[in-house]
Amino acid sequence: MRNARRLRLRFDEASGILKLTCPWRTSRKAALAWALDQRDWIEKQVARAQPGEPFAPGATIPLEGDEVRLVWDEAAPRTPALKDGELRVGGPREGFTRRIELFVKRRALDVMSREAAHYAEAAGATVSSVSVGDAGTRWGSCSSHGRIRLSWRLILAPPDVRRFVVAHEVAHLVHLDHSAKFKALEARLYGPGLAEAKAQLRAVGPRLKRIGRRG
Ligand SMILES: [Zn+2]
Repeated sequence: MRNARRLRLRFDEASGILKLTCPWRTSRKAALAWALDQRDWIEKQVARAQPGEPFAPGATIPLEGDEVRLVWDEAAPRTPALKDGELRVGGPREGFTRRIELFVKRRALDVMSREAAHYAEAAGATVSSVSVGDAGTRWGSCSSHGRIRLSWRLILAPPDVRRFVVAHEVAHLVHLDHSAKFKALEARLYGPGLAEAKAQLRAVGPRLKRIGRRG
């Protein structure tokens, strides 16, 4: 497009095509570099275009990296029980989704609170609180007051991927930047395999964001 005045990206949900428009003087290299910077936005659009994987009876979801089947058995206890690759939940059908959600979020909070405490001790830092939420494109964040917030979806990921995000946020308790000192601490806390875990998060991330989304 010769008359475009600035770089622009548009995602067409129906065709799944991502269109990059740029002023005609822009070099191909500069345009692609700019598009790469829009990765968060692109991921969001693509994720929205794909159907969610709601917590429904018979569905299979990843939990700590293992595929787990959701089973509704009215006579079973209402508190979900995990056994032999099945997450069994009782009570009325209307509350099924909610009970699975609570189970997954509670587990995310329990597991990651423990991991954060462990890494904080190794880093000689103090965590004032750990909470779980679902903050758009971010997997974790950390405040200067020692509060760590993590995506509950990380409990769906393989443990090594989850640990990477926890170690990353705990390292921020000491260094609020991505300096060389930060990276050295992050690597020390996590141990070997950090680059692989980071790459794996990029690979599994889009699916994790679809889990539990209704429709
Ligand atoms: Zn960071």
